[in-house]
Amino acid sequence: MKIIARPPAFTYIKNHLHADRVPLSHLAEKHGTPLYVYSASTIRERFRTFDTAFKRIHHTVCYSVKANSNLSLLKMLAKMGSGFDVVSGGELERVLAVSRQAARKVVFSGVGKTAAEIDLALKADILIFNVESESELDLLANRAAKMKRKARMALRVNPDVFADTHPYISTGMREHKFGVPLHEVGDLYTRAAARKYLDVAGVSCHIGSQITAVDPFAKALGRVADLVRALQANGHNIRYVDAGGGLGIPYKDEEAETADFSAKSGAYAEALRNALGKLSVHLLLEPGRAIVAPAGLLLSRVLVTKQNGKKRFVIVDAAMNDLIRPALYSAYHSIIPEQWNPMQSSAQPVDVVGPICETGDFFARDRELPALKEGDLVAILDVGAYGMSISSNYNSRMKAAEVMIDGSSAKQVRKRETVKDLMRLES
Ligand SMILES: *Cc1c(COP(=O)(O)O)cnc(C)c1O
Repeated sequence: MKIIARPPAFTYIKNHLHADRVPLSHLAEKHGTPLYVYSASTIRERFRTFDTAFKRIHHTVCYSVKANSNLSLLKMLAKMGSGFDVVSGGELERVLAVSRQAARKVVFSGVGKTAAEIDLALKADILIFNVESESELDLLANRAAKMKRKARMALRVNPDVFADTHPYISTGMREHKFGVPLHEVGDLYTRAAARKYLDVAGVSCHIGSQITAVDPFAKALGRVADLVRALQANGHNIRYVDAGGGLGIPYKDEEAETADFSAKSGAYAEALRNALGKLSVHLLLEPGRAIVAPAGLLLSRVLVTKQNGKKRFVIVDAAMNDLIRPALYSAYHSIIPEQWNPMQSSAQPVDVVGPICETGDFFARDRELPALKEGDLVAILDVGAYGMSISSNYNSRMKAAEVMIDGSSAKQVRKRETVKDLMRLES
């Protein structure tokens, strides 16, 4: 059988899996498992590639913090000039903690912002609020008036575009909770323009996540561009168009092996530029997954192997609390052994599962893998996005540690939680 890692971030050197130049077995010994491992060079490279794809147009890449909100990662991106897309006050606080400057490049999205979150963002003087309802518009106008600070705002429109992705992460159709329907936004822009402390500055949309075709993005942005022209003709000073995030990545080995992120970003940029036509606006982009997903893996140790009737189970020390994507979205993640000798080619179908008391606690079902024994290490791939950021303490499991690899250096960027952390807030 063929085992495919994720070069250049993760490769086999002398039959052992490495992150850049660092052997994963060393990391497991030093930091324990389960362990999130990220490649800094890959994150930087992907950010640069994405940013460069848009070089022919005025733009700001606002990395979507919810994909992976680790402070070291945010700091690295801030240093490269990235802006940030936040969806809560907590995410904004993270951005402020790494760089007060970066706050000026923050877009604030989300269907239910509280007054306290809006106040925080007004104080930080963020770039723009993406407003998603009439009530939010009024709340923002009132808070801004109270603080005597002008709030730049865009309405997030719902372009009613179908995109082929998991229903839980599709957001741009009429029946979804997100945004304002296209035919209703005209009135809201008029209402916004009448408020002294609102600066009607943009239009935004975000149609969902893990969308691999570029057509739905182009279709949605085409509708947004029509709206912008109409709004400008009506005297609104629209300078920003926010195309959202959502560009997908290949999770399947065969697709990952031949993937060319530069070509993909180029095609995406081209489609968006065409959709904008001659509009002169500043384009905002909110990629999350596309920047960080392939740059992370989850290292885990086999606790138990067992045979139940015809089924063979490999029980590892990571679980759905560490990585919920398979349980939540039926997501596919490639799993590869830490040690791999291409000469030993035998494989068997196994279920790779965690120790949590739920049948949904699995990482792979009937997956062909080389024989694994207790104590072996495995790596679950493409977990840099929506891995650690959705992790929980379910089953009173302590959250994993995170390590950032940069060339030959390995820096722990989050400690493993302790029993004390687990109970700290309870009486
Ligand atoms: C989640 C989200 C993103 C990022 O989506 P990715 O698929 O990770 O690129 C961008 N914008 C908004 C408003 C989001 O909710």
